[in-house]
Amino acid sequence: KKAPSRKGSMADLPHDLMQEIKRLEDLFVVDTNKLKAISDHFVSELEKGLTKEGGDIPMNPTWCMGFPTGYETGTFLALDMGGTNLRVCEINLPEEKGEFDIIQSKYRMPEELKTGNADELWGYIADCLQQFIEYHHEGEKLDKLPLGFTFSYPATQEYIDHGVLQRWTKGFDIDGVEGKDVVPPFEKALEERGVPIKLTALINDTTGTMIASAYTDSEMRMGCIFGTGCNAAYMETCGNIPKLAHMGLNPDDQMAINCEWGAFDNEHKILPRTQYDVIIDKESPRPGQQTFEKMIAGLYLGELFRLVLVDLHEQPQVKFFEGADISPLKKPYSLDASFLSDIENDPYENLQETHDIFVNQMGIKPTRPELELLRRLAEVIGTRAARLSACGVAAICKKKNLKTAHVGADGSVFNKYPHFKARGAQALKEILDWETGRDGKPLGKGHDPVEILPAEDGSGVGAALIAALTLKRVQEGHH
Ligand code: BGC
Ligand code: MG
Repeated sequence: KKAPSRKGSMADLPHDLMQEIKRLEDLFVVDTNKLKAISDHFVSELEKGLTKEGGDIPMNPTWCMGFPTGYETGTFLALDMGGTNLRVCEINLPEEKGEFDIIQSKYRMPEELKTGNADELWGYIADCLQQFIEYHHEGEKLDKLPLGFTFSYPATQEYIDHGVLQRWTKGFDIDGVEGKDVVPPFEKALEERGVPIKLTALINDTTGTMIASAYTDSEMRMGCIFGTGCNAAYMETCGNIPKLAHMGLNPDDQMAINCEWGAFDNEHKILPRTQYDVIIDKESPRPGQQTFEKMIAGLYLGELFRLVLVDLHEQPQVKFFEGADISPLKKPYSLDASFLSDIENDPYENLQETHDIFVNQMGIKPTRPELELLRRLAEVIGTRAARLSACGVAAICKKKNLKTAHVGADGSVFNKYPHFKARGAQALKEILDWETGRDGKPLGKGHDPVEILPAEDGSGVGAALIAALTLKRVQEGHH
């Protein structure tokens, strides 16, 4: 049976729903010109962030000062404190170029911990590390193992083994951590338990992603996370970082910058925010922060979708989920990004899966026109996320004057959200106006000058590599 054409069935929609779909498209669709304007403004904000005065985007120097050669060696622990899991890895970097062995354990990150107190957080993490070491090194007498700690929040670093948390993001809200160095309480918790670990480097997941990917690919110029949160890191020349001028660094030295671009446009100058974006911000634990991230990151996609649905139901002139009890839909953050993924993956012909999810999870039975609105809404929200993300990648390319580059990307949205990669690539093309590929020939598939590629394991291998690079720098007499 032939799938009904999209246009044809849209025309059959009741007038009020058609109008609503149009309204939502107007709100969420970002055209090429707007993408270009956003990415130009983004370039100036990247630059501002590097000055002493600063701007919206923190542009944090990370003290990761150069790419790996591929020949790094040693055994390292890596700790990844993510939103859902806590992962502990032991990584061995052998002599062979670009190789590694890894063993790892995952621990649950209890939800209560994210809004609990600091001692509990550090205690829990230290317990997990202790468990890991007891399990994998039972009865061994160990020297202190060097650890790369992937702490994926904005931190001010004066040294690579310290970091003052600027603010929590991604819904974390633990008292008494912001504005303080996170390393001393972490090390204290380890000491109290007698865990033989020495923190060597505190890193961001984006920096780890860039370095891990560069270990095996010399064209890597950037690391991006499109997951629960959203951010990027790239390598900057020290001479172009005015806020480090007082440090007396060699102007030709390289420094990885953790952009923290989630904070882009906190001043609300350029992003096409909708009323729904405004609500997400207001109801979040940190209103006014992470404006860009709240429009594109996985944590917020389902919530945006939910807010629109509740609004449609409540508008008297729109017949949407009419007469249904939508109380299950009224719970904030009850829908996650995988919910939208499922809707976007559902064959358009009958949208059966979408129908079933609403019936089973919410006791709401959508009509065919409603199903079409749900699908279109998921598409515009997912597409906006991918296209706005591309503005950041394009901005770094412009700032660095990169004509070609590989960008390493990781995160649940990048890896799992349907069409995210293709939509992002399409937007990059529109912004950067490519006519030819790297080889000078007209562009074909896979020949884009800037390619966003699935990254190597940043918070594991990347953290280990940065620890290795740090030990090497120390041995060479740097700080
Ligand atoms: C954090 C960044 C992180 C990103 C991706 C953001 O909320 O501020 O440090 O890189 O999420 O995990
Ligand atoms: Mg992560």
